[in-house]
Amino acid sequence: MKKIFGSPSRYIQGMGVLKELSKYTAIHGSKPAILVDPDIAEDILKIVKESFGGDESKYYVEILGKDSPRICCEETFNLLRKNAKANGCDLYVGIGGGTSLDVAKAAAHFDKAPMISCPTISATDAPCSALSVIYHPDGVWDYHLFLDKNPNVVLVDEDIIVHAPLRYNLAGMPDALSTYYEAATANAANVDNFLGGKHTVVSQTIADLCYETIYEYGEQAAFAFKAHAVTPAVEKVVEASTLLSGVGFESNQSAASHAIQNAMTAIPASHDYFHGEKVAFGILGQLALESWEDEEIEKFCRFCIHLGLPVTLEELGMADLSDEDVMKMATLACKEGETIHNTVVPVTPRVVFDAIKTADQLGHYYRTKYENILN
Ligand SMILES: [Zn+2]
Repeated sequence: MKKIFGSPSRYIQGMGVLKELSKYTAIHGSKPAILVDPDIAEDILKIVKESFGGDESKYYVEILGKDSPRICCEETFNLLRKNAKANGCDLYVGIGGGTSLDVAKAAAHFDKAPMISCPTISATDAPCSALSVIYHPDGVWDYHLFLDKNPNVVLVDEDIIVHAPLRYNLAGMPDALSTYYEAATANAANVDNFLGGKHTVVSQTIADLCYETIYEYGEQAAFAFKAHAVTPAVEKVVEASTLLSGVGFESNQSAASHAIQNAMTAIPASHDYFHGEKVAFGILGQLALESWEDEEIEKFCRFCIHLGLPVTLEELGMADLSDEDVMKMATLACKEGETIHNTVVPVTPRVVFDAIKTADQLGHYYRTKYENILN
C-alpha cells in the first residue's frame, strides 16, 4: 500500500522572523515577486524593505486586489505571473491571509518557481499546503488546484499574527479541529489523501495533535490573542493552526466539514464570514451526519460558543435560509469530486440536508447552555 506524506521544506515560527525574509529569498532565487494583502501592506512593506537593506529594486511588490479581483481566481494569479515575468522575478512570496498565499502558490506552481509563504494571521491551512483553493471571481468556490510541491519556506512571524484582528486568529482553531474530525472519517474509510497515497502514522498523529493542542490551549490562547500577546499557549495554537493543520489535512484527507463550507460559499450571505468560521458549522454538520457521540458534539459546541465561533446558520448570516437553499447547499456539498465522499457513511443530498438542519438545531440548543467567554 503506497503512503505519501508532504510538508514544506522549512518551517520557521517566532517573533520578528519576517525580518529574515531576504535571507530565505536569496537561498531560493535572485529576485522575488512579493504579493501582499492590502490591509496590512503599509506595515509589512516597511519590514520587507528593512529586510532587503532598504533597496526596493531587489524585489517586486504587488498588492492583492489592486488590479484584479481580491480573490484567488485565475485572473488574479495570471496577472501576478505576468508582472513577475516583466519584472525579472524568479520566485514568489505571499504575505497575508489565505488568499494572498494561495494566489502566490498558484503562480509559483505554473511557473515552476520556488515559493515562500508568510502568513499574517493564524486562520487557514494555506501557508503550508500544496493546494490552492480557486474561486470564481464572484467568490464562489470553483476547484482545488493541486500543486506539485509544498512551499519551500514558511515564515510565521508571531508578532505580526497576534496583532491581527482577533476574529482571524480565532477562525484558525475550528479549521485545525476539522483536520482531526475529517481525518477520523477519511482514514477509517481508507481513502487516498490529497497527495494520492494512503495516510502515514505521522499524518494521523499530526491530526490527533491538532485536536489535543486546540482543545487544551485554545481558550487560553484566545485571551492572549485578544490582548495581542504572545504566550506559550499562543505559540502552540499558531503551530497547530498553521503547521499541524496545514500538513495534517493534506496528508490525511478532508471530508464533510470542508465540503459543507465550500457549499456555503454559494450563498452570498456567507461571504462576510471567514473560511474557518464556516468550517466550524461544517464540523457540526459532519458530526451530525456521522452521528458522533453527544459528549463530543457538546465538547465541540462549548468550545466554539466560548470563543464566539458560529454553530448555527443564523450566526453565519443565514438565519432565514429557505429549505430550498439548504437543499442547494447540500446538493453542492455532494457534487462529484467533493471531499464529502470521503465519509464512512454513504452520502446523498438528502442525508446532508438532514445533517445541516440537525446541526443547526444542536447549535441553537447548546447556545442556551454556554456563552461567549471573550465578551
Ligand atoms: Zn480549511
